[in-house]
Amino acid sequence: VCADRIDKYPRDTRWPAGVKVWPRDRLDDAQRILQATPGVTALIYDQPCAADIRRKRKRAQAPQPTTRIYINERVCEGCGDCGAKSNCLSVHPVDTEFGRKTQIHQSSCNYDYSCLAGDCPAFVTVVPGLEPDPAANLTASLRSALSSIPPPVRVPDEATVYMVGIGGTGVVTASQILSTAAWLEGQASQCLDQTGLSQKGGPVVSHLKIRKHSGDLSSTVGSRQATVYLAFDVLSGAAETHLRHADPSHTVAVVSTSRTPTGRMVADTTVSFPQADDLTSRIDSVTRSAENIYLDAGRLSEGTLGTHMMANLILVGAAYQAGLLPVRDTAHRKGDRAETACRWRTTSWHSGWDATRSPHPESASATPGRIGETRPSPGELAPAARVIVEGVGAIGELLRLIRARVPELIAYQNDAYAREYADFVRRVVVAERRLGTGHEALSESVARYLFKLMAYKDEYEVARLCILSRFETSAEQTFGVGARISYQLHPPFLRALGLKKKIAAAAWWFGPLCRLLHRLRGLRGTALDVFGYAGLRRLERRLVEEYRLSVEHELGRLGPDTYQRAIDVARLPDLIRGYEDIKRRNVALYREAVRRHQSAAPACDGVLPRPEPSDVEEQRV
Ligand code: SF4
Repeated sequence: VCADRIDKYPRDTRWPAGVKVWPRDRLDDAQRILQATPGVTALIYDQPCAADIRRKRKRAQAPQPTTRIYINERVCEGCGDCGAKSNCLSVHPVDTEFGRKTQIHQSSCNYDYSCLAGDCPAFVTVVPGLEPDPAANLTASLRSALSSIPPPVRVPDEATVYMVGIGGTGVVTASQILSTAAWLEGQASQCLDQTGLSQKGGPVVSHLKIRKHSGDLSSTVGSRQATVYLAFDVLSGAAETHLRHADPSHTVAVVSTSRTPTGRMVADTTVSFPQADDLTSRIDSVTRSAENIYLDAGRLSEGTLGTHMMANLILVGAAYQAGLLPVRDTAHRKGDRAETACRWRTTSWHSGWDATRSPHPESASATPGRIGETRPSPGELAPAARVIVEGVGAIGELLRLIRARVPELIAYQNDAYAREYADFVRRVVVAERRLGTGHEALSESVARYLFKLMAYKDEYEVARLCILSRFETSAEQTFGVGARISYQLHPPFLRALGLKKKIAAAAWWFGPLCRLLHRLRGLRGTALDVFGYAGLRRLERRLVEEYRLSVEHELGRLGPDTYQRAIDVARLPDLIRGYEDIKRRNVALYREAVRRHQSAAPACDGVLPRPEPSDVEEQRV
C-alpha cells in the first residue's frame, strides 16, 4: 500500500501478513520490487483524486489549505527537477529575461506540495494575507459594458460541436451546460464525453450535437462533420487525431491560445512549447480560417475572475457571441447560473472576440517584466554601469542584453567584475563585426551565457536574490498584503551533516541574514570565503574560465564556415542548470557537448581541460 499520508491509518490497523505500507515517494521502489516478485502481487495506491478534492474545497466540504507554494524566479535555475519530482502540471516552465525558469500556476495548484522536493532554494511557502478579491477586477465600467452587449446577430438552427481540452478544466461541464441549455429550449441534443483514464491533465473530448428535432442521431461527431471546433487547449486542438473532425467548407474553430505545458515540457528542459503560429496554421488549414477566433482564454479568466477554471466557458461565450451555437441567452440563464451567462458575455466583450483574431501571446515576449527581472529603460542605469555598458559599443538587442546584465554583475560583486564581463563581450563583438555577417547572434549568445556562468548562484548571490524587493512585491501582489513568506532551504552544510529535508526560514530572521550575507560578498573568492572552498563553488569558478577559453578558441578560427559552430558552442552553457548534484550532472553534460563540438571541428586542438580528479571528489566535499 502506498499512500499520500500513511499516518491516516490508525496505529492499530491490522494489515494482512506481507502487506507493507509506504509513503508515496516510494511508489517507484514498490513497483520495481513487485515487478521482480514471482506470482501475483497487488499494489494499492491510496490518495484522493486531486480534481475531486478541489471540487470539495470549492463547496466547503474539505478544508482549504492555508499554505501556498511560490517560486522565486530569479533564484530558480529552470532545471526541471521540481517538475520531475512532482509530475505536477501546475509546475509551469516560463521564459524570462534570464532564461527558462519555473513557476507555480497558482490557479490550478492543488496544494499537493510535492514540488517542494525540488532540490533548490527557489521555493518559498506563503501564508496569504488579505488576498485580492478577483471579482474586484470586474470594474464598474466593465460591468456596465457587459450589460450593454447585444445578443448574437444570428443564432443557427443546428450545430455539430467537437470539443477538445484538458481533463480537470471543465470540458465535460461546458458540454453539459450547452446540452442542457439546448434541451431547455426544446431542442434535441446528444452528447458523448471521452475522458478515458484522464482525471486531470490528460486529453478530454466531448461530442455534442444540437438539432431542431430529435432524430436518429449518432453520438459521435464523425470525420469532417464538426461545424464548430472548440479547442480549449491549442496543443490538443492542433493534433491530427482531432483535426480530422473539421472541414474547411463548414467548420469554424474557436481556440484558446493559452499555453498549458505537457508533462514532458515540465520535466524536460529541452522540450519547449511549439511555436503558436505552427499550431494555429494547422488548425486554419482544415477550418474556415477567416472566421476562426483565437483568444487567450486562460489569461482572460485569471485576469477578470481570478481563476483559470472559467477559461472554457469564456471560449464557449466567444462561440455563442459569434453566432455559432444554437442556444439563446435565456436558455443559458436557465441552463446554468445566471452568473455564467454574464461571464460568457464578460469574456466575449473583454477579449474582443469579434476581431479577426486576437494576437497570440508569446510567452517570451509576454513574461519579461516578471518578478525580479531587470528591464532597465533608458536613463535608468547608474553612472558606473552606463560607462561599462557604453564601452561595449553594442546596439539593438545586444545593447538591451548588456544593459540588463551589467547592473546585475555590479550588484553580484562589483564594478570590476562587470567590466571583466563587458570587456570579453566587446572582444566578441569586434570579431563578429569583422566577419561582416550583419548579425550579432554570437555576441548575444556570449552576453547571455557568460553572464549566466559569472553570476553563479552561491550563498551570497542566493541571499541577494531572496531579498530583491521585486520578489517581495510580487509575492504580495499575488497573495495579498500581509502575506507571510517562509524560505524553503536545504543548505549544503546542513545537507553534509545529514539533513535530508528542507528547513523553513521565516522572513523576519532570514531577511536580515540575507542582507548580511550580501554585504559580505566582497569575500567571494578570497581566502576568507568559507563557502568558496566547497567543491561546487570551485567548479563554478573554473567553468567561467573554461567557457572563455572555448569561445576564444572559436574566435581564433572564426569564418563563414565556422560561424554557426561558434554560436552553438557559445550557447552550450544553457545545459548547466540546477543546484548541487543536479548541477554537477549538467556540467558533465556541458563538458561532453563542448568536447563533441570541438572534436567535430576540423583541425581542432581542443581547449577544454579533461575533468580534474577534484571534480569527482567534489561530490564528497
Ligand atoms: S531550480 Fe529547478 S527545482 Fe528549483 S524551482 Fe527551478 S526548476 Fe524547480
